[in-house]
Amino acid sequence: MDSVSADVLDIVNPATEEIVTSLELTSLEETDRAIERAAAAFPAWRAVAPGDRARLLRRFAELVDGAVEELAQLEVANSGHTIGNARWEAGNVRDVLHYYAGAPERLSGRQIPVPGGVDITFAEPLGVVGVIVPWNFPMPIAGWGFAPALAAGNTVVLKPAEMTPLTAIRLAGLAREAGIPEDVFQVLPGKGSVVGWRFVTHPAVRKVCFTGSTEVGKRIMAGSAEQVKRVTLELGGKSANIVFADADLARAAAAAPYGVFDNAGQDCCARSRILVERGVLDDFLTLLENAVAGVRVLDPRSEDSEMGPLISAVQRDRVASYVGPGAPVAYRGSVPDGPGFWYPPTVLAPVDPASPAWTEEIFGPVVAVVPFTGEDEAIRLANGTEYGLSGSIWTENLGRAFRMARAVEAGNLSVNSNSSVRYWTPFGGMKQSGLGRELGPDALNAFTDVKNVFLATEQ
Ligand code: NAD
Repeated sequence: MDSVSADVLDIVNPATEEIVTSLELTSLEETDRAIERAAAAFPAWRAVAPGDRARLLRRFAELVDGAVEELAQLEVANSGHTIGNARWEAGNVRDVLHYYAGAPERLSGRQIPVPGGVDITFAEPLGVVGVIVPWNFPMPIAGWGFAPALAAGNTVVLKPAEMTPLTAIRLAGLAREAGIPEDVFQVLPGKGSVVGWRFVTHPAVRKVCFTGSTEVGKRIMAGSAEQVKRVTLELGGKSANIVFADADLARAAAAAPYGVFDNAGQDCCARSRILVERGVLDDFLTLLENAVAGVRVLDPRSEDSEMGPLISAVQRDRVASYVGPGAPVAYRGSVPDGPGFWYPPTVLAPVDPASPAWTEEIFGPVVAVVPFTGEDEAIRLANGTEYGLSGSIWTENLGRAFRMARAVEAGNLSVNSNSSVRYWTPFGGMKQSGLGRELGPDALNAFTDVKNVFLATEQ
């Protein structure tokens, strides 16, 4: 990675290319010590009365609420997110904390009828949980891991991505101010191959909650098998936005750019493949191009900005490699002059479904359009990928909406909308987009084990 040297990390502002700050990388020995402290803190943390653990999480949420603007400004400088998005992201951490602050008193087990006694189950915390976070959504993805993990009585070590550690470090400071003991929630900025991999190999870490690329996720899963370590994996995506001829075309086209260019396309849920029913392809493309022309690609500090730069020069080069000479560019937007890792919103149409722009996750502001004829072909095209994270179906036909929603292999679908994420509903991928579910009521299962206890009552 371009900004990582031996032991010091330069944090670069992607919009200006200026160094924001430099940080020491956590070493292997420091990681071991942090994990040992987290393991030592576990018995006391799980023993905190449910109501008290809830109160600490609520206080943490309120401190995050008070720091939304500070956290948002930090994310704009570190990650180039638009200020509007960054405020939403900080608010999402607050909301996720409030939601899981409701969990400690509600983590009840079951009572199951058995002869000769009583059978009850307990939702037991696992111990130390290692959370590994990517650079694209540093705040929300950290919160989706640490909030339910802490609520369920686990202690947490969290590794932010190399390039984007600043908000996670500030969140750990706010946790401390809220009264959560230092060793219960520790943030360790450092390399994936050192700190992240130690979460996989250290026997005291009982669970790894990983969000990132499918390639690294597979390695985490294979490494975790050695200790039958629990994993949650949230991996890549290549989601389909399926537009039928009977849809409200104007609405579908107006929404499509924001379903893929939000966060400059660096979004695992990006609807980066648009499937359009053949009869309306030309009409849709005209509407889409107008909508893309309206996306405001501006300095991310500006209140009007809807899209900022990419995270790094490396990422920009990767994205550009999908739009080489001969690429079917139907429309290309503009970017500000001057420094920054900018790439214009780009529409490729029509694309060969065998081309890398259609099959690989680009993770940038490039969308590929392919026409289809009928539901069967739409399903075949949508499912013709190893990914299965999210997707959209645009139609005014209710039966078709449900048929398609059941047929598309993805964990998070929306009908006549491109919205996938609500903190109180489950989120996660099918096929190679992941394993397990975050958010909503499901996340607590991922941070607890079921213990069954039989108590004999016969003399
Ligand atoms: P990445 O896999 O390169 O890195 C993710 C994290 O893993 C980073 O913190 C990195 O330091 C760490 N890591 C790298 N190698 C490691 C190793 N050997 N052992 C342990 N940790 C290691 O991914 P990225 O480039 O930061 O993020 C982009 C990817 O994340 C995209 O593929 C995107 O789709 C995916 N993503 C998925 C979701 C989801 O919820 N499904 C959400 C956001 C991003």
